[in-house]
Amino acid sequence: MRTLKGEHSMKNQRHPLNGERSLCVLGGGQLGAMLCEAAKRMGYFAICISTDETDPAARWADLHIKGDPSDPHLVRSVAENAAAITVEAESIAPAALGHDHFRGMISPGVEAQRIVQDRRLEKTFLAEHGLAVGPFRLAETLEDLTTAAEDMLQTSPKIVVKTARGGYDGRGQVWIDSPEKAASAWQALGQVPLVAEAAVDFTAEISVIVARNNRGEKCVFPVLQNEHRRGILFQTQIPAPQPLEVIRSAQELAIETADALAIVGLLTVEMFVLQDGRVWINELAARPHNSGHVTMRATSRSQFEMHVCALMDLPLSPVGLITPGVMTNLLGDLWVDGNPDFQSVLTHSMASIHLYGKSPRPGRKMGHMIHVAATLGEAKAAADRAYASLGGK
Ligand code: AMP
Repeated sequence: MRTLKGEHSMKNQRHPLNGERSLCVLGGGQLGAMLCEAAKRMGYFAICISTDETDPAARWADLHIKGDPSDPHLVRSVAENAAAITVEAESIAPAALGHDHFRGMISPGVEAQRIVQDRRLEKTFLAEHGLAVGPFRLAETLEDLTTAAEDMLQTSPKIVVKTARGGYDGRGQVWIDSPEKAASAWQALGQVPLVAEAAVDFTAEISVIVARNNRGEKCVFPVLQNEHRRGILFQTQIPAPQPLEVIRSAQELAIETADALAIVGLLTVEMFVLQDGRVWINELAARPHNSGHVTMRATSRSQFEMHVCALMDLPLSPVGLITPGVMTNLLGDLWVDGNPDFQSVLTHSMASIHLYGKSPRPGRKMGHMIHVAATLGEAKAAADRAYASLGGK
């Protein structure tokens, strides 16, 4: 990896980019790192713009440009030399992508990014396009929230109140079971615009990843089933152990959503499976997704490879399931007594470990492991044993 500093390095010297063959990632996290890794393996030159050269994507890229990935001038100077530019995390996007300067430069485009970054726009977009979503209300003020709570708590035992912007991994959310608690929720969430949702009585949480190119061609991945612990994704299984009708309707819903948003790149649609088998959308991400990491071992091409295909106009032929698999997240909590002993994990012949090279903090995603096996049950049992052997709870 080479690091260049800021935009003058791009302006004033012949830089080593081959425009046709380079892909630029805005942001330095692990999703960017795994995207760079896939792009390089497919013969592309991977560029990362981020503020810190120790970021995972900075280290995986061929070229790291140290600078603000939200700076339109810097991004424009790189865009002149890159075949595609994409964004790896919502946290970069609000400043950058709301910006008209970025129109036409970034995939997925600014309009789709603007919608998925704001739960108010996202839920409203879904409802207006007839895409299945649970009951919700928008709240700009404490009065709005109190009224929404009074109404919704008549039919739902509790509601979850979420910040419109910026929340992830369970952060920026408060559950309430009486309208009197609206004021404390409003305070706790920082007196910002909110979305209130009825508690969905789901039997499972699933996600569906769709790759789509600028001609509207697309391919959909096998459905993933997710288990969350303390609001953070814990484990993902592929293929989701759900009836065929649920799988079909989840994939159709994800494709319709990607079409409605005119996605170029990847769209991940998180959904709830209801008691009667219907599926409702919970949340969208216009990028690779943590639940999709299992595709690095279990499908013919990974979510990162399909993202490259969509951005670089390569065929989006169907992705095949090679084997059942389970992905387990490794959070910083496992590092409290130093590096976990991964030897026990690697004694299983069908296990792989993927670490992102970040410094540990409780709750921080440090890496993941993938277990594959002849059956989903075997993969899950092996994944659970490995997690316990690392001291995970
Ligand atoms: P989110 O950040 O919106 O994906 O929420 C994190 C997790 O909280 C979800 O994966 C669910 O487990 C749970 N959750 C969020 N919204 C709801 C809801 N409306 N009803 C029930 N559970 C929810």
